[in-house]
Order: sequence, then structure tokens, then C-alpha cells
Amino acid sequence: MGKAVMVTGGSGYIGSWVVKGLLEKGYTVRVTVRDRKNTGKYEHLTDLAKGSQGRLEIWEADLLKEGSFDKAARGCFAVMHIASPFTLRFKDPQKELIEPALNGTRNVLSAATRSGTVRKVVLTSSVAAVHGDTIDMKEKGLKEFTEEHFNYSSSAKRQPYSFSKVLAEKEAWKMEESRKNWKLVVINPSFVVGPSLTGTTDSESLNFMKNILQGKFKMGAPELWFGFVDVRDVANAHILALENPKAAGRHILAERTMNMLELAGIIRGLFGDKYKLPAKNSPKLLMYLIGPMFGVNARFVRRNVGYPLKLNTSKSRNILGLTYTHIEKSIEDMVKQMHEMEIV
Ligand code: NDP
Repeated sequence: MGKAVMVTGGSGYIGSWVVKGLLEKGYTVRVTVRDRKNTGKYEHLTDLAKGSQGRLEIWEADLLKEGSFDKAARGCFAVMHIASPFTLRFKDPQKELIEPALNGTRNVLSAATRSGTVRKVVLTSSVAAVHGDTIDMKEKGLKEFTEEHFNYSSSAKRQPYSFSKVLAEKEAWKMEESRKNWKLVVINPSFVVGPSLTGTTDSESLNFMKNILQGKFKMGAPELWFGFVDVRDVANAHILALENPKAAGRHILAERTMNMLELAGIIRGLFGDKYKLPAKNSPKLLMYLIGPMFGVNARFVRRNVGYPLKLNTSKSRNILGLTYTHIEKSIEDMVKQMHEMEIV
């Protein structure tokens, strides 16, 4: 039997690809889910396990319940903590985003410590923990964001999802420092795209692409920049972080950064006029007016629209050893799958 790894969030968009990769490598993969009876959330993993060298175990645990990861972590040599709510559709950010991210990290990493067997923790953070508003780059006189930077401009009121990732990652570093019996490696993906192994995820990755394809921005794209990375590369990065002895610290992942109009251009290049895509940028002044329709306020527009983003990804390439999939391929696979599944 292969060495055991506990994976939180293994039923989700990114987590499912990580579980697939681990099973193919022959590990025993202990996936934690909130409700074991809800088999619809993880039956795709059971199917993947059938043809693999590894072994899948499903354990029940909740980020919000202290001690609930202890049993699953016992006997594992590593933990991959991927679970955290990734949604921009929330009512109470404190309860829905911040508490599960922060308390969840505490609970999962405490279980790693108490296990006595875990030697490595791989944490899925985000570039949202590296930078906040894209104007921050200009304000700080930076040419690009690197692993040295932490997002300082998000808060519980402004971009609470980003804030939840900052709090969770900082807590993880604090816990590593004080416990010392496991090593922490952090993965900071930018916006993740590519096909999904699960039909039940709430991940914003799928929602964002659906909005673009369904014409939400057809009158004009907000001039916002993002980093983009393939979901399969994100999974590889997690496995490299687990296996590569040189892996240490944080790792920004992005194949490239681009704005929404450039993204629309890639989709148009692949699929012609099949989707109602934006053909121009929306003027910033108009964005102040229509921003609320897209869930953003005037402050967000002022500090993000029109400010390019640059991310330094050399550490992921040169030390972690990650090779990136061209984002055109990621987008093609994702859009084709969404079309086949009649999502768009
Ligand atoms: P998904 O929504 O697909 O996955 C989130 C996972 O977290 C699900 O498995 C979900 O389980 C689990 N989860 C949420 N709340 C709880 C809880 N209270 N207790 C136990 N499990 C819980 O999103 P992604 O795969 O996109 O995101 C995974 C991770 O990657 C997150 O940490 C996110 O912040 C990070 N990330 C994502 C990016 C992206 O572009 N997608 C970019 C950068 C980072 P359930 O199925 O039960 O809901």
C-alpha cells in the first residue's frame, strides 16, 4: 500500500485533479468531505480510483469543527490542505469565507501536528494572498509581484475572499514556525482555468467562464488584469511541492497575465462568433456606474480598472520544476467541456 496523504477539498475543482494525480502515482489518498453520505460530490473520485495504482479513502471532516481532521490525519506522512470556500456570491463574509478559511487552516494544521506522523503540509493559498488591488504594484513602485509580497489592501469589508486567503496563509506560516515537526510548502495559483472532473463544484473558476461565454460582458469588458493557470498544472504543482525536496516557501503560479479583452480574444480565436464576447473595453467612467451590476464598488473600480498586473513565476518554473500548459489549450478544453455539458 502506498504512503498515505490526507487531502482536504479533494472533491472540488482543483482538489479532484490533485487526487487523480496522487492516485496515478500509487499513493493512498484520504479525501475529507463534509458529508460522506453525499456520494454525488465524490463519486467521480471513486471512478478514478478504480483504474489507478493508488487507493482512495473517504473520511468525514468539516473545516469549522475543531478536531474533526484528527482521525484522518493519523498515519499520514503528508497533508494537502486545499479546502476553502472560493465564492464571490456570499451574504455574510465573516461566516462564509473568513471563518472556514482561517479556522479551517487552524484545525487541519493542528491535526497534522497532533498526528505525529505528518512531515509535510502543502497549502493551497492564492495570488489573492500575494496582492490586493492591482494599483498596489504602482503605489509600491514595483515592476511585478513576487513571493516576497503579501496582500495588504484587502480586508473583511473589501475583497473578503482575498482577505480570507491572506489570514489563512499567514496563520499557516505562524503554525509552521511554532510547531516545527512538519514543513510547509505553499502554492499561490492565479485564476485557474481548464476542464473540471466534477460537475458539482461551486468554484468561481467555472462561474467566471460561464459569465463571459453567456455574454455578461458583451457590451464591453472591464479593463481588469488577472493571471491565468491551467487546473492540471496547479495539480502538478501540488504534487511537485509534495515530492520535490527543494520545494520551500511560496510559489506563484501563472502561465501569463492578461486582461479580460485579451481573454475574450483567445476565445474568439478558438470558437469564432459562437459566444457573445466583448469586442472592446468598457470605459472606466462607465464602470463606476455599472460596477455594482458586476458586484464591484467604486473603490474597486478606482484601484483596479486600467492597472496592469505582473507576476513573477520564475520560482515555480525553476525550483518547483513546473512546465506550464499554454492557456489557449486550457481555455479550449474548458469551453469545449462546458459546451458538451450544456452549461453554455
Ligand atoms: P471548489 O469550490 O471547487 O473547492 C472548494 C473545496 O473546499 C470543496 O471540496 C469544498 O467541499 C471544500 N470546502 C468548502 N467549505 C468547506 C468546509 N466548511 N468544510 C470542508 N470542506 C469545505 O473551489 P476550487 O477548487 O476552485 O478551490 C480550491 C482551493 O483553491 C481554495 O483554497 C481556493 O481558495 C484556492 N484557489 C482557487 C483558485 C481558482 O481560480 N479556482 C485560484 C487560487 C486559489 P464541498 O464540495 O463540500 O463544498
